[in-house]
Amino acid sequence: MSVPTRPKPNITESIRPFWDGVAEKKFLLMRCQTCSAWYWPAAYCRFHENKPFYGNMRWEEASGRGMVFAFNIHRRPMHPAFEVPYVYALIELDEGPMFGTNIVDCAPDDVRIGMPVEITFREFEETGVLPQFRPFACEAV
Ligand SMILES: [Zn+2]
Repeated sequence: MSVPTRPKPNITESIRPFWDGVAEKKFLLMRCQTCSAWYWPAAYCRFHENKPFYGNMRWEEASGRGMVFAFNIHRRPMHPAFEVPYVYALIELDEGPMFGTNIVDCAPDDVRIGMPVEITFREFEETGVLPQFRPFACEAV
């Protein structure tokens, strides 16, 4: 029996700079150079005209912090390579956008709405580096 391998992220051209950043353990979001609004995924700024084409948008390093906005605990894997249980969460980033990810370094039953979290970069043999989130370590244990 072969061991299932993790699926690779679906990297499209519009978000390739994000994944290039992740490979260097940087968390990049798109930011409007006109009004400083942050975006994920890649988008045009919704607050004004965007000229030239994407010309006012840049990838910039974000804090990698946020809080759990919503989550669910998967007790059956969405993919045979995923070990259950695991948490899929929507993080409300400090910069504003929502980011879908896994919560790690925390028992699934201990995840809470509003819990402060921070990014952690995990390397997997099949996929390379992936961005995941863990409880924000505000105190030494
Ligand atoms: Zn803007």
